[in-house]
Parts: sequence; structure tokens; C-alpha cells
Amino acid sequence: MNKVEHIGIAVNSVKLAGNIYEKLLNTPVYKTEIIDSEGVLTAFLQTGPNKIELLQALNEDSPIAKFIAQKGEGIHHIAFEVDDIVAEMQRLKSEGFILLNDEPKRGADNKLVCFVHPKSANGVLIELCQSIS
Ligand code: ZN
Repeated sequence: MNKVEHIGIAVNSVKLAGNIYEKLLNTPVYKTEIIDSEGVLTAFLQTGPNKIELLQALNEDSPIAKFIAQKGEGIHHIAFEVDDIVAEMQRLKSEGFILLNDEPKRGADNKLVCFVHPKSANGVLIELCQSIS
């Protein structure tokens, strides 16, 4: 894996949280995007080389709605950038990690993504992401 690509934060409102993070980081939200398959609205901020992804549930079936119901707002996942997501998924599977999807799927910000179950990673949801060129 190359680096932390972004940190995902579950929020009740991308609009309200976006305002707070814009002040905190002193930089504007540069992109918002709906991911239909996950039922989420996302917003991205960048500070130096680091990115923050804010995630708001758009319906009750969204994983973000379930997360907030259980744990409240807060850090939801850490995403790592990889060059070859399929190879990395195979490597992790062979190491015994539980992947939440069998095939890479389309994520926010022009990425292919796959999630690793938090049970496999000491309670942290891990996202692999590869840029779609
Ligand atoms: Zn993410």
C-alpha cells in the first residue's frame, strides 16, 4: 500500500460538518458527490497532501446510518491508496483478512474501492482505493 489516501468521517449533515471542517482546516470543500450504491453523500477537503471525506447517509439502509445509530458521528474508516486493487485484495484474502466485497466497486472521487471488515483489522474499517485513470 502506498499511503493513507483519506480518512472517512461519518456525519449527520455534510453541509453542517462541511462548514466546521472548512473552518478547522481553513480550506473549502472542493467536491461533493452522491454514491448511490452506498446511499451516501460525500464531501472532500484537502489539507496539504491529506484528504478528509465526510459521509452522510441518504437513507436508513446506508452503512453510514447504521454506523451513526450505533456509535454516533466520528471516524468511520481509513483509506489506503494501492496501485493494483485486485492484487492487493488477493494478497489480503490469502493473509486471512475478511473483505466486504468480492470485486472492487466504484467509490467516490473516481476510485475503485474495497473494504476490509473491521473484525480483521482490530476494530478499524479499512478501505483500499485505486484511482481510475
Ligand atoms: Zn473513503
